Amino acid sequence: MTPLRPLDPYTPGSGSGDLRVEHYDLRLDYRILPNRLAGRARLTAVVLADVPALRLDLAGLTASKVSVDGRKHRFRQQRSDLVLRDRERPFRAGERITVEVQYAGNPAPAMGAWGDVGWEELEDGVLVAGQPTGAATWFPCCDHPSAKATFRCEILVESDYTAISNGRLVSTARKAGRTQWVWESEEPLATYLATMQIGQYRRGPLEPGAHAPAQVPLELACGPRTWERAQTALSCQHAMMTAFEELFGPYPFAAYTVVVTDEPLDIPLESQPLSVLGPNHLAGDWEAERLIAHELSHQWFGNSVTLSAWSDIWLHEGFACYAEWLWSEVSGRDDAEAWARRHHARLSALPQDLVLTDPGPADMFDDRVYKRGALALHALRRAAGDEAFFCLLRAWTAEHRHGNATTEDFLALAERMCGDGEGTAGAGVQPSRAAGVRALLRDWLFARELPELSR
Ligand SMILES: [Zn+2]
Repeated sequence: MTPLRPLDPYTPGSGSGDLRVEHYDLRLDYRILPNRLAGRARLTAVVLADVPALRLDLAGLTASKVSVDGRKHRFRQQRSDLVLRDRERPFRAGERITVEVQYAGNPAPAMGAWGDVGWEELEDGVLVAGQPTGAATWFPCCDHPSAKATFRCEILVESDYTAISNGRLVSTARKAGRTQWVWESEEPLATYLATMQIGQYRRGPLEPGAHAPAQVPLELACGPRTWERAQTALSCQHAMMTAFEELFGPYPFAAYTVVVTDEPLDIPLESQPLSVLGPNHLAGDWEAERLIAHELSHQWFGNSVTLSAWSDIWLHEGFACYAEWLWSEVSGRDDAEAWARRHHARLSALPQDLVLTDPGPADMFDDRVYKRGALALHALRRAAGDEAFFCLLRAWTAEHRHGNATTEDFLALAERMCGDGEGTAGAGVQPSRAAGVRALLRDWLFARELPELSR
């Protein structure tokens, strides 16, 4: 069955326009060796349309019991659909319901156009990489970033292991040789950012080393063998956090944790409010540091300010890529102008068959989206001047804090902040250039051909 009302053409099998989940409350029991997960998910939601049935995403796990408002409810499961079937009367728009699902199974990644996503067994633990449609591999959900919800997760695991999820750690309790970890995110999160990281990890403050300590508490979680190396390689996160708060506005969460897995990872991952790196990302060179900066910046761009449709992925990746260049600039390496010129030259030599604001699902994570998005921001910065441009970034993160946004929202705000209206422009604006923010960005955002990067 296809979704009753697909939310997003990029991920047509995920999410539902008929239901808005406001809160997820998960109670999970996980056994490492047999990779066995048993769960109870309680979803508080509002029905958005008069419909006879509702659909949730759940992939590879078997539901045994479903109730709606405490009453047993008929359901059926097929592939990644968990359908709450008709009852004596249809669901009504505006109706607030509590759905409870009991489920179990051996969680595994979902295979799709973007490789394996979701729950993944490590050699000794678990990693969840939910982007874009992997949340359904470990809990029933409305899996789309426009459907942000608060999140609470209790997980019971063997006591040798640490279980890290979203938000803050509320409590831990020993239960017959096992430990229950309770995590809670008061800030709403997109389902793809919901996470579970399990390993034989030690947790503790991330030391600033030679850097001035950041205002935001920074934490490290990793295996004891990697602990010292991670402390050294990641101490720059303190300076990065301070620099990004100045450039992008206040950090949107209470704390930030970096998890370093025991085994190498192809790419680091962003979650909320944490990032997951592999030991291979601790090399201490620029390539590692740019990824560390990239992941941290996603807390503002992607996690707090989240796209409304996957076609707008540049609002996450273009901004995070630009954050790498900004970190290079403020840490005394090449400035963003140098990175822009370098990457413009590289992009010029690649096929120009991609529209930044609609790259298509197959090219959603294409590196050209990242780099061209950053170039578009750099072109805007050049035209508007630093003062107006960074005011715009801070206004963007403030206006859409913990919400969803679109390219059109960004253009409207850019016009307001960097346009030529009297009194709205910062001191650095060059009026002739700032006059047409939309005109300036149009080809970067909506045309296939790569615009020139001329001064
Ligand atoms: Zn990214």
